[in-house]
Amino acid sequence: MISYDEANFIIEKEFDKLDLQIENINLLDAINRVLAADIISDINFPPFTNSAMDGFAITFNPAIKKWKVIGEISAGNFQDYQLGDGLAVSIMTGSKLPETADTVIPIEDVIIENNSVSLKEDSPFEKGINVRLKGNDLLKGEIALNKNIILKPKHISVAASCGKVELRVYKRIKISVLSTGDELVEINEIPSEDKIRSSNQYSLLAAIKEINQTGINLGIAIDKKEIVKEKIKLFLESDSEILITIGGVSVGKYDFVKTVMEDLGIKINFWKVNIKPGKPVVFGIYKKDNTSKLIFGLPGNPVSCLVNFIIFIKNNLLKRLGTFEDISLLAELTESINKKDDKKHFMRGFYTKDDAGNIFVKRVGLQSSGNLAEMGKSNCLIIVDEIKRTVNKGEKVFCIPI
Ligand code: AMP
Ligand code: MG
Repeated sequence: MISYDEANFIIEKEFDKLDLQIENINLLDAINRVLAADIISDINFPPFTNSAMDGFAITFNPAIKKWKVIGEISAGNFQDYQLGDGLAVSIMTGSKLPETADTVIPIEDVIIENNSVSLKEDSPFEKGINVRLKGNDLLKGEIALNKNIILKPKHISVAASCGKVELRVYKRIKISVLSTGDELVEINEIPSEDKIRSSNQYSLLAAIKEINQTGINLGIAIDKKEIVKEKIKLFLESDSEILITIGGVSVGKYDFVKTVMEDLGIKINFWKVNIKPGKPVVFGIYKKDNTSKLIFGLPGNPVSCLVNFIIFIKNNLLKRLGTFEDISLLAELTESINKKDDKKHFMRGFYTKDDAGNIFVKRVGLQSSGNLAEMGKSNCLIIVDEIKRTVNKGEKVFCIPI
């Protein structure tokens, strides 16, 4: 059985080959989307030298601290003035500075008498203060925004300043989700006898939505080869790039999802990884017309299913988009952990931070891969490596916030 690192490497390499489409969208619709091309500034930031304060523009001379006010410049209403020793112009924040001015004295730092102003004692007085020089933030022709960022309001304002009405962003990746199992009913039904609601479909569709990609709900297929085959075929013929099937990948009599995938020409890269939960995961590739689709068969146990998504799909997809951030934390265990096998574990845990910023963590519940309520009460996955059987209280462990 391959290790987590080996499996992850294989998946990452296939994600690298995934073709990303680009679309132009309206500036405001680009919020939370991924920028697909650098934005070059068509202007200097700021575009002209201007005042950072409401005050008085002067030509600095250390010996002169009183000035006659000869005019006024407000934002957007520039008028040039010839300043020299002893002359000032009243100026508002953001107003263009006269060519001859190099310094602005804030209104709070002067005493105003008739039409002259004098510097209050102990006020800062240096050449260049309160002046924002043309291009000091960014020069025309420089990169204002790098591609592969998730666009936030702080980026939208930069793009707006560059006059971008539309932005080039990556199209959302279309991820189809198919549940399999005779025991499954839709979530708006009351499950009778031995049936359960197909909750995993929703955990995955929500996880896809959380990373701002498109989830396509392929519904539930009963445990009949032909039915599962039909559903997967529909996906293969669609323009969806990724398929996630849920259930039917273990070793039970009705676990034939992998066989169906193979029958349909999907090349299986691996089946089973040395991890817990989520060991039976299948990963394969379907090649058609120079493009490849990524196919994941996740086990049906609710914890296994979502953990597999987090550790194999989410991270690699974000890496492909160039937006992956390592959010893992190093936390001190408050209770020892024992495990009975050599698998890499992703245990449900709860971490807290104290006032000094120290992070502590402990396991939550029974750690059954079927206990989804338990996962709902946890806020991280505690990673325990293959070689570790015991991690003692006080030792530090990596955790992935969830
Ligand atoms: P399987 O991987 O098909 O053997 O299923 C393992 C367990 O996960 C069984 O208890 C299933 O009932 C459960 N399960 C499978 N699919 C789903 C689903 N879509 N939502 C919730 N539980 C599921
Ligand atoms: Mg099943």
